Amino acid sequence: MGTDCLFCRIVAGEIPATIVRETATTVAFRDIDPKAPVHVLVIPKEHYADVATLAQGDPGLAGELLATAAVVAEEEGLLADGFRLMFNTGPYAGQEVFHVHAHLFGGAPLGPMLCR
Ligand code: 5GP
Ligand code: ZN
Repeated sequence: MGTDCLFCRIVAGEIPATIVRETATTVAFRDIDPKAPVHVLVIPKEHYADVATLAQGDPGLAGELLATAAVVAEEEGLLADGFRLMFNTGPYAGQEVFHVHAHLFGGAPLGPMLCR
């Protein structure tokens, strides 16, 4: 995808981010506008627009993304009290960046799953 995509530019090092973990195929970095004490975004380096496209196109990579999220959750000390992993997908979910990303939230009680 390249220069049009914000998260591809973070992968390329063209836009700074606070990277907390990087593997051969994934990157995890802190959200610029955190919604919880821990709010990390976990992405594949390869561009996929959303989690459905990723899961259909490369289920192995989807698994690697989940594995990275789990390691970051452990490194951030979230395993004992728990955490939330969320993929906003499409307009009803309010997805704003169309490079698939898991939101990893934790560090405090996270409230109800959905606000109405
Ligand atoms: P979405 O609404 O697409 O699920 O989430 C996009 C997320 O990306 C938001 O939580 C937003 O704060 C985060 N974000 C947007 N621009 C940047 C950026 O330049 N750097 C980082 N680290 N996060 C960003
Ligand atoms: Zn991208």
